[in-house]
Amino acid sequence: MKAEIIAVGTELLMGQIDNTDASYMSKRFPECGVYVYYHTVVGDNRGRLAECINIALKRADVVVLTGGLGPTQDDITKETVAEVLGLKLVFHPEILENVKEYFNTIRHNRKINIMAASNEKLAYYPEGCLILPNNNGTAPGCIISHFVEGADKTIILLPGPPWELQPMFDNYVVDYFKSKIQEGLKSVYLRMFGIGESAMESVISDIVSTQTNPTIAPYAKKGEVMLRVTARYEKGKQDPDLILKPILDILHERLGEYIYSDKDVELKVVTANLLMSKNITVSFAESCTGGMLSELLTDVPGISKVFLGSVVAYSNEIKQSVLKVSGNTLKKYGAVSEQTAKEMAQGVRLLYNTEVGISITGIAGPSGAVADKPVGRVYIGISTEQETLSYEYTFSGDRDKVRYFSCLNALNILRLYALSKG
Ligand code: ATP
Ligand code: MG
Repeated sequence: MKAEIIAVGTELLMGQIDNTDASYMSKRFPECGVYVYYHTVVGDNRGRLAECINIALKRADVVVLTGGLGPTQDDITKETVAEVLGLKLVFHPEILENVKEYFNTIRHNRKINIMAASNEKLAYYPEGCLILPNNNGTAPGCIISHFVEGADKTIILLPGPPWELQPMFDNYVVDYFKSKIQEGLKSVYLRMFGIGESAMESVISDIVSTQTNPTIAPYAKKGEVMLRVTARYEKGKQDPDLILKPILDILHERLGEYIYSDKDVELKVVTANLLMSKNITVSFAESCTGGMLSELLTDVPGISKVFLGSVVAYSNEIKQSVLKVSGNTLKKYGAVSEQTAKEMAQGVRLLYNTEVGISITGIAGPSGAVADKPVGRVYIGISTEQETLSYEYTFSGDRDKVRYFSCLNALNILRLYALSKG
């Protein structure tokens, strides 16, 4: 089912408040088999609102209107919807009773407010609609089923204030659709590292453009990319996994070397879990990342089993005295070099007596570039009893990005090492 959300309110158009009602519902609707195709915002004006409703009824099966259900002059949603659909407004005494009770409670609690005569307006709703109680305010919502030019349309009216709309949406609207629809959705998230968004898209552009079920949607996250693969299926009749499988197989075939999780798990968690399950002890020597790598890994509960500690070796003195990097190496190649990275990794491994030592040294910027080493140059070392290696990177971006990307790459190096161990 296609949906359009029409948010009514001049204050939204003027930018005085954000349309959080629409974003809230858009996030939740797909789980009910409702797909939001349009967001519209319109001021408190009958003519323009009627025009928007007419357009929405042509292009959507479900039209949701938020705001303008209140008692004041500029609250015009119910009247305009009734007019467009050719429905009468019917008085509901029980709604007025509830409103009176609500005001009595408020008056009791806060010693303010006397119910204004205009609140009678709150009790009028389009004939034949399903009333949705408002437990957090005065104006109820409602659902109208109506034929428009031979098509079955659902028109939903909800109050504007988010603290009224959200519980009403969760308690009534979600169930209304869930009980109606037979269609389900299942998504698989493939997270990748080591490939850029455009490179990934070019590898799969042929299937992305032709695929309708499952659909494939790429996302770029900071330093990594992700694909969401979503199958639509008929509940009780189809197995979503069987719809997903052929496409997942192709994606694994083409991108498998970059995929580190098909369960939407973060890189640090995947790496930490591998280290823990294989009992691989690690220690870090961090220069330009100043402990960020250690922080990322120690976000994962239980990691104390394998992560012993790290040295933040920012100065050359500490690199020499604690990590035993040789003075010659520092003088000849510099602190940011392949050789220093290797000696740091080895130094920390021996210091903490771990299976693996990882080091990061680099120029995070904005200053510090030298003739042969630009800002963003980073060396990551990995040392084990068998060998000590160093990898060179040149990251673009600001200081934060250089440091964060360094950590992600270090985590990935650790992950690949853990994977290589049977
Ligand atoms: P009331 O009974 O309070 O008058 P209402 O249903 O008539 O509610 P509006 O008068 O349009 O709704 O809006 C009331 C308040 O709700 C706004 O001042 C604003 O704070 C919030 N609001 C309205 N629409 C939205 C929206 N789309 N997103 C977020 N907040 C909204
Ligand atoms: Mg209002």
